[in-house]
Amino acid sequence: MKHRLLASTGLLASILLGACQAPAVAGIPKGRAREALLEGNARFRSGGEHATSWQEERVVKTGAFGQSPAVGVLSCADSRVPVELVFDQGVGDLFVVRVAGNSESETAAGSFEYGVSALGVHSILVLGHTKCGAVEAAFNQKDLPGNMSAFTRVIRPALDGSHPSNLDAAVEANVRWQQARLLERSEILREAVAAGRLDMLMAVYDVETGEVRFLD
Ligand SMILES: [Zn+2]
Repeated sequence: MKHRLLASTGLLASILLGACQAPAVAGIPKGRAREALLEGNARFRSGGEHATSWQEERVVKTGAFGQSPAVGVLSCADSRVPVELVFDQGVGDLFVVRVAGNSESETAAGSFEYGVSALGVHSILVLGHTKCGAVEAAFNQKDLPGNMSAFTRVIRPALDGSHPSNLDAAVEANVRWQQARLLERSEILREAVAAGRLDMLMAVYDVETGEVRFLD
């Protein structure tokens, strides 16, 4: 792609002169993130407009002028949850941290602190998903070998207090738990919420239907 972009001598100038018509989260006002993400998810599910035709422009634009994503997402590493595709977003729209079980951590918190402090992220979504293997392992009290025990260790406390009766309930409990722990860990994020500069959102993605359901 890079060679093609570099060869497009008039592209950067045309981007600078023209308004971007792409459906995107980046740049939307605070308070509209949930609505914009749901609209993108509806486009994804309907097989309609997808964020492809304007991606080259975004690469050039964000490469030249930097990123300014409005929405951060803490999601699972599961390959069935490709965050930008699910919300029909493109290059530069979402600031995404992905790790098994959408588990918060010091590095995840630090990433979002950077997103909020330096990039202008005004909303953070913790996104769980149905049939999550990491949550299922914790739910079934499985002992996993090697470093895989790290994510069951941080998910189990989410289930101990809420006693979910099935995996769907466990996924939802884990989303709520990870968001609470993320805020508990991060003074910078708590201050941003208190100052009205940051909204915290929670949702679950259904891997069978492609639909995102917000919890709040
Ligand atoms: Zn998962």
